[in-house]
Amino acid sequence: MKNLKIYLLFTVVFLSQITQSQTIVEKYGQLRVEGSKIKDECGRNVQLKGMSYFWHQWEGFEYWNADIVKWLRDDWKIQIVRASMGVGAPGCEYLADPENSVEQVKKVIKGAIKHGLYVIIDFHAHKNYKAEAKIFFKEMASEFGNYPNIIYEIWNEPIGDDNNPNPKWEEIKEYSKEIIAEIRSFDPNNIIVVGTPFYSQRVDIVADDRLLTDATGSAVKNIVYTLHFYAASHFETLREKGEYAISKGLPIFVTECARVESSANGTPNPVSWDAWERWMDDNEISYCQWSLSTKHETSATLQPGASIKGNWDYDKDLRSEGKWARDNFRKDIKSVSPCN
Ligand code: CA
Repeated sequence: MKNLKIYLLFTVVFLSQITQSQTIVEKYGQLRVEGSKIKDECGRNVQLKGMSYFWHQWEGFEYWNADIVKWLRDDWKIQIVRASMGVGAPGCEYLADPENSVEQVKKVIKGAIKHGLYVIIDFHAHKNYKAEAKIFFKEMASEFGNYPNIIYEIWNEPIGDDNNPNPKWEEIKEYSKEIIAEIRSFDPNNIIVVGTPFYSQRVDIVADDRLLTDATGSAVKNIVYTLHFYAASHFETLREKGEYAISKGLPIFVTECARVESSANGTPNPVSWDAWERWMDDNEISYCQWSLSTKHETSATLQPGASIKGNWDYDKDLRSEGKWARDNFRKDIKSVSPCN
């Protein structure tokens, strides 16, 4: 009897250690979309929470590495990072320097694979760069499509330019069909995030006219649509658009959000954030917060000079939104049991 008790005790300790040592990707495995929910390998609903990097060519580029991904996993307890590869803005963005841009993105992807986080490969563009996006996602899907870690985000925020302001859903839809077909010829199943009109806010328009097939005519699957919000600028009116989309069964992934204004600056609005966070939690909507950056703006989480290997000092290395984000993730993200 005593031996049995000891045996059971060891078994419990052993199993709890397995649970703690497994990464989130080992626990959830290959994700899929069913109705309006993201599901894990054993059919449980999934809500992922994590951080978005800043435009890769600007402040904070030196933090695009595996050590930082591991530090964010271990200290901030996050489950996902978003690699926001800048396309079509000043600096050494993808169009000007595709080779180095891709190399930088791959450091984060490989870091996420190594340390067991999910990673969004974000084509961080405002304009329609369909031809370039095809080339990029062909490379990403052919190289990384077998890893359950990967999520593709094909057009961050459709805004357009003076010649083509605010691309309509019809244009975004045609773009998405072609990029999805390109990805699916290499990766049949990982989740693809589709941008929505007007800074990825109009999920209500998409909800009435969602993608059914890709450019080859194949039925699309494992597609989610993005809603971006900034809690000091966006309130109930935008949430109602999200609410409408959910009522139509549209799967939503908030790939970008913050407590500050839509300029990514200004004063945080904690009351509005709490309403948004409650809404996302109630609806099991995954999200990434903007941003992991040293830029002098309130949404940026790091102080210049914070080590590029992690091991950040809370008081010295984190800006106010960084302190808040880390505390909030640590309080909020619950441990997950392995798939049975
Ligand atoms: Ca795959």
